[in-house]
Amino acid sequence: MYYKEVDKRYREVMAAFLKKHYRYHTMNSWNKSNSYANNIKLYNIDKPADIDSNKCWEMIGVAQWQEKLSSLLEDFGKKHNWLWQAGINGRSGGYVVLYRGGIKPSGYKSYCIHCGQKNYQAVVDGEVGICGRCDARARVNFKQTHMQVFTLPGKEVDMHWDFDGWTLSDLRERVELVQDFDMLSDDLVAAYFDICRNYRITEEEILVPKTIKVLEPIV
Ligand SMILES: [Zn+2]
Repeated sequence: MYYKEVDKRYREVMAAFLKKHYRYHTMNSWNKSNSYANNIKLYNIDKPADIDSNKCWEMIGVAQWQEKLSSLLEDFGKKHNWLWQAGINGRSGGYVVLYRGGIKPSGYKSYCIHCGQKNYQAVVDGEVGICGRCDARARVNFKQTHMQVFTLPGKEVDMHWDFDGWTLSDLRERVELVQDFDMLSDDLVAAYFDICRNYRITEEEILVPKTIKVLEPIV
């Protein structure tokens, strides 16, 4: 639906593909910064005949779909070393947008193997690290520098289409990135249809622990 073949031998064909590609704001309209995007509007997309539209609309709010969506977006980021990331934007989350980003050291030096709590202090050689949260004597140093992902939501991507100074291989790389992004958009829609087809929503009651105030006699 979104993915298109592009003849990557020709500069004009590649530039035309990039220029014609659908775009959307990276933040909001007043920010005036935009990037490659796809309008996937899951709530009113044309659905295959075997899918019940009313039922499908409700699926968007179900936590399991949100998790599936996040994991597909995360896979895309990982594949591009987080330099490029895909995110959801717009009212009702109708648009997938291509973002710039990266990874940097998080500053965390150690973590608790018992509860997972991270700590900015390193455990000194020969000493036992104690967890600040659960008190377990299980805080150990990260073996590799702990990294964190960041996104640059205000940064535009190719807003002015100034491809003239680009080499052919630069252009190819950008086209391949956008094609990969389009493929992700196809995957998102396919995953959504798959859930609509194979699941139904039921309600489940859960018990939530709650703290209340009680009177206790003074003895
Ligand atoms: Zn702990």
